[in-house]
Amino acid sequence: MKLKKALLVFGMVVFILSCATNPFTGKKTMALVPNSQLFPTAFAQYDQFLTDNKVVKGTKDAEMITRVGQRIAVAAERWLNANGHQGYLKDYKWEYNLVEDKTVNAWCMPGGKIVFYTGILPIAKGETGVAAIMGHEVAHALANHGQQRMSAAYVQQGLAVAGNIAIKDEKSRNAFNQYYGVGSQVGVMLPFSRSHETEADKIGLYLMAIAGYNPDEASELWKRMKANSGGNAPPEILSTHPSNDSRIANLKALSPTAKAEAKKFGVTKFR
Ligand SMILES: [Zn+2]
Repeated sequence: MKLKKALLVFGMVVFILSCATNPFTGKKTMALVPNSQLFPTAFAQYDQFLTDNKVVKGTKDAEMITRVGQRIAVAAERWLNANGHQGYLKDYKWEYNLVEDKTVNAWCMPGGKIVFYTGILPIAKGETGVAAIMGHEVAHALANHGQQRMSAAYVQQGLAVAGNIAIKDEKSRNAFNQYYGVGSQVGVMLPFSRSHETEADKIGLYLMAIAGYNPDEASELWKRMKANSGGNAPPEILSTHPSNDSRIANLKALSPTAKAEAKKFGVTKFR
């Protein structure tokens, strides 16, 4: 009984110690894997991914991905600074790459490592659509959604020791890949929860608007995603980001709020 109680107290201490405040939502979230460990792992995995895949360089599309990525990163920095979170991005090493692959997908790994597949470009249908996807994926990274899923899974599997997890053995690296969807099996990434999706939709909308992209396009983009969900090869991104009417309606309803947010930064015209 005494031991049980001690374990419970220990568990609570671990939980409290490893909670971080999400600056975008103000909510306390579980972050058992500190960014100091997560980022180097993510950077190494990202570099490996680029080595194993065909990176498109010097084309108009590749330049567009970089341009949108830089604008979204600047928007994130401005938003965080304005809201009293200076230094939040200090360990980020932003990178934006277009990869030759017909898979309909895009992702952002912890620390700002972004990949777009050429297969998603026809559905993005231009720069503003790319910005909607980029904003959303970057939002997942900024809000540490993957990290939270990883932390929860570690606790479930009893892998968390003293509130700290070392990503060093194969088992934890596999978990990392499962939660971030890279490595040898691209596309195994587990879906985000609905609340994480809603959060990323909102943050992503703010980011794209502050970056000067019309947030009205986000609901149009997900309509196109939905229209493409049938057929022989449904978009990979839909297995982790199910699109439905309530999501589309929610994005549409939030768009004026995103424009109002952008106005605070002097952005009133949208491309
Ligand atoms: Zn998402």
